[in-house]
Amino acid sequence: TTKLLDVQHLCVDYEAENGTVHAVNDVSFTLRRGEILGLAGESGSGKSTLAYAIARLLRPPAIITQGKALYYSRSATELAGTPQKNQQQSTTMPLDVLHASAKQLQQLRWNEISVVFQSAMNALNPVLTIGDQIIDVLHTHRPAMDKRARRQRVNELLDLVGISADRQYSYPHELSGGMRQRAIIAIALALNPELIILDEPTTALDVVVQREILTEILHLRTQLNFAVIFITHDLSLLLEVADSISIMYAGRIVETGSRRDIYRHPRHPYSYGLLNAFPSLIGPKRKMYSIPGSPPDLRNIPSGCAFRTRCPLAFTACPQHIPALRPYQAEEKETQETAAVACHLYDPAYREQAPDIKEIE
Ligand code: SF4
Ligand code: MG
Repeated sequence: TTKLLDVQHLCVDYEAENGTVHAVNDVSFTLRRGEILGLAGESGSGKSTLAYAIARLLRPPAIITQGKALYYSRSATELAGTPQKNQQQSTTMPLDVLHASAKQLQQLRWNEISVVFQSAMNALNPVLTIGDQIIDVLHTHRPAMDKRARRQRVNELLDLVGISADRQYSYPHELSGGMRQRAIIAIALALNPELIILDEPTTALDVVVQREILTEILHLRTQLNFAVIFITHDLSLLLEVADSISIMYAGRIVETGSRRDIYRHPRHPYSYGLLNAFPSLIGPKRKMYSIPGSPPDLRNIPSGCAFRTRCPLAFTACPQHIPALRPYQAEEKETQETAAVACHLYDPAYREQAPDIKEIE
């Protein structure tokens, strides 16, 4: 499988009352073509900000202060404006989304990257029928398509997401919550994007509906092979559907692995806490464990490891150094290159001083 997105050292800040909020801190990860990556973490851990930054949808006062998001698409070479004379040169030139021009962004959106905000009511235009909203997207981005072809595409898309064709004449308020979600997915898929970013609603949408939508997305992914970044605080949902999972804390990724790696053997004490904060539905029973305290103020992040104020295993090195994401030996072949954990417990340099990891196993 090939790389689709390579995020490197991304940082996002914004000015707030009494200081600068460090919402995303030095985040790096790789997404492969067709992969479903779940981003988990408590609210305020930087998940949405990270996704918005990648989609270039951040609004002031949030600013990207550092980093790259290299996007490798089949058409990225064109997007980057590189002449394609040299046919032998088959390596794709990635486009750095974080530094893309307005014109390049216009090309990227919908065509390559679609963002689905799950607050479905706000994402749809209340005065346009579902069909007309899809037609709008096609009209803007595929001006060469004729009226008949557009109509046909609308039918195709609705069929794909399980909405009957006669529903294209319905207005959003005439549809159920689940149906509106499907309509949004149909719009997101209109131009065959390679990446879909799904952000969970802050107000809890019915868990049943969320699961339904994800099942739908999974099913469509097997047909269309797009990649997905799915953002949620519900780790149990990710354990069912994601290929890989990244767990965020205080704006950083603290652990990345396959869902099996994360489920069977969470390395980071925070991941362990998240996994054991809810009763297990699948697999072995675990001891219920709750993480004391609450996430830190992002204007004033603790020195060293940001989790140390809540970590039952914190030791001398923890306040002194920020733990880097270090690769670990993953059990899953697919994540052997990307599995990593940011915790001093796994750093050989601190093995002597570190408490026994067994305490959390
Ligand atoms: Fe806990 Fe230290 Fe690991 Fe942070 S680095 S998670 S404080 S043991
Ligand atoms: Mg959020």
